[in-house]
Amino acid sequence: MTNTVTLTRPDDWHLHLRDGDMLKAVLPETARHFARAIIMPNLVPPVVTKADAETYRERIRAALPAGMSFEPLMTLYLTEDTDPDDVARAAADGVVHAVKLYPAGATTNSASGVRDFDKVRAVLERMAEIGLPLCTHGEVTDPDVDIFDREAVFIDRVLDPMRRATPGLRVVMEHITTSGAVAYVRDAASPDLGATITTHHLVINRNHILVGGIKPHYYCLPVAKREDHRKALVEAATSGEAAFFLGTDSAPHTDALKENACGCAGCFTATNTMSILAHVFETEGALDHLDAFAAQNGAAFYRLPVNSDTITLSKGSTVDYPTRIETADGPVTVFDPGFDLTWHVAP
Ligand SMILES: [Zn+2]
Repeated sequence: MTNTVTLTRPDDWHLHLRDGDMLKAVLPETARHFARAIIMPNLVPPVVTKADAETYRERIRAALPAGMSFEPLMTLYLTEDTDPDDVARAAADGVVHAVKLYPAGATTNSASGVRDFDKVRAVLERMAEIGLPLCTHGEVTDPDVDIFDREAVFIDRVLDPMRRATPGLRVVMEHITTSGAVAYVRDAASPDLGATITTHHLVINRNHILVGGIKPHYYCLPVAKREDHRKALVEAATSGEAAFFLGTDSAPHTDALKENACGCAGCFTATNTMSILAHVFETEGALDHLDAFAAQNGAAFYRLPVNSDTITLSKGSTVDYPTRIETADGPVTVFDPGFDLTWHVAP
């Protein structure tokens, strides 16, 4: 039995840090274990220009506690007004590593997202030319489409036509939740198509949210699907295949906003993700693929060097993670995987 695993220091290829007091509170939770993260741009107002990304990056660096190291990899929020030249400059200067597509209204702060894809055609073509990845929140927002079908319909109606219309466009299907999405990635078998998988979608299915009383801290978007889908995600994540990599989508909302008649979507997993992943990978007999999922595959997709330092996970007594993080805006509950975590992380 393996009791110790040394990994390349991992990266998080999909992270929400917010801003101000919330940023200060949650940034150390990520920086403790992760070297870098792709930072989501859905602030209010969103990060839409190179200049916005530079000032947000400065705020993140300023919020990092002394003695911690962490590199924020910035993204731009794609709008119908995005300027292809500004995107190209932001990429060339190494400020921005991806552009994020939110269909209008898909999730938290996505009101500025894209309604008419013809209006972003020039941006997508420029991104294909320069190899800058497009990160997609892969859900349609048509009110006639059932919430559990929105990812599948997005693949058919938006993603596949967009990829065919834009040869060379590099795409990350963010936080995939279905076996259909896993199959789409594998069928494409392209170095230009990858997918992130969250920590929580490897652990919960829709019953966790809805059976025995509603559990607002398990509500996220895309919403967790049936158990068959969760199993497909676990199989993909633990396969070691290059197209699949970790993007926690860790998203802090205060308890007051989660435990609410209209609760916010998002799970906060930054704190305990590595212990949860070690548990999931160990259960699948795939601890030897955790390095690929959490540290190697994402860096390769983003054409960045792999981190040179390491972390060590060791199995022992139950790890005493906090149940919530205190912030100036109120407490944020840490994701509860529903099982004891026995993998300790040492930097
Ligand atoms: Zn997200």
